[in-house]
Amino acid sequence: MTDSTIRESAMSENVIAGDAISVRGVGKTYAASAGPVQALLPTDLEVRPGEFVVLLGPSGCGKTTLLRMLAGLISPTEGTIEIGGKPLFTGRDAKPARDALGSLGFVFQAPNLMPWRKVWRNIALPLEAKGIGRAERKRRAEELAGLVGLEDFLDHYPKQLSGGMQQRVAIARALIHRPSILLMDEPFGALDAMTRDSMNLLLQRLWQETGKTIVLVTHSISEAVFLADRVVLLSQRPGRVQDIVEVDFARPRDLSVAADARFGEMTGQLRKQLGGHA
Ligand code: ADP
Ligand code: MG
Repeated sequence: MTDSTIRESAMSENVIAGDAISVRGVGKTYAASAGPVQALLPTDLEVRPGEFVVLLGPSGCGKTTLLRMLAGLISPTEGTIEIGGKPLFTGRDAKPARDALGSLGFVFQAPNLMPWRKVWRNIALPLEAKGIGRAERKRRAEELAGLVGLEDFLDHYPKQLSGGMQQRVAIARALIHRPSILLMDEPFGALDAMTRDSMNLLLQRLWQETGKTIVLVTHSISEAVFLADRVVLLSQRPGRVQDIVEVDFARPRDLSVAADARFGEMTGQLRKQLGGHA
């Protein structure tokens, strides 16, 4: 196979039409020792299949809380979440439904790689728990490495990679079980500005090639406007949806879109609404 046919087959196997996400009246109050902490007021949000939604808000407004609920990692105090039209939390003990979890991939701010494992074995880690054989794990890790531009680093160890490359490993790992939805919590927050720009371009390409639904959390206004179909602006704690801004710049967007006057207007407006809190 040539490079381009490998790449095409990697793409076709990973094109999974994104599922819709429906959030209705979802709120979260943590039971803390000093008393209850209301992190998120009842919130409604509809994410369309294949849409790229960015949650933007100041520190502590409940972005991570909302994303962790979408990921089924914590349950809402009130309200319902549906993934692809099916409830995420089911039964009396409100456990996340197994097939819904299979539709979700999650990327955190820290790549959380296992230092003693080579790149491909980090990417393939989630397949081990499923009992998938080594040859198949390796084949799928190679596909995903191709998608994030790490095909030449499969046998490297994490410490041999830059921060941006480590985060690409984490993205590949999040996609290895072929989820339809990718949830990302400040995935590029620890990277320098130039690496962050290139990761934004990579993520846009990956999203366009695979058709997945993406919900990404950031407190960078320009990252939000660059990436999003819609920016969901959350207010200070307890968080609530303060505004939703449609971003209609043509795709694929180039970094030079930031020089567009309308880009400046949008980021300026969001900055004003955040009132210096971002
Ligand atoms: P963000 O990601 O927007 O910075 P978080 O969702 O992490 O915000 O947190 C929202 C609020 O909830 C913060 O005030 C935080 O201190 C509080 N919080 C988060 N997790 C817990 C927890 N496990 N127990 C108690 N309070 C929490
Ligand atoms: Mg957070």
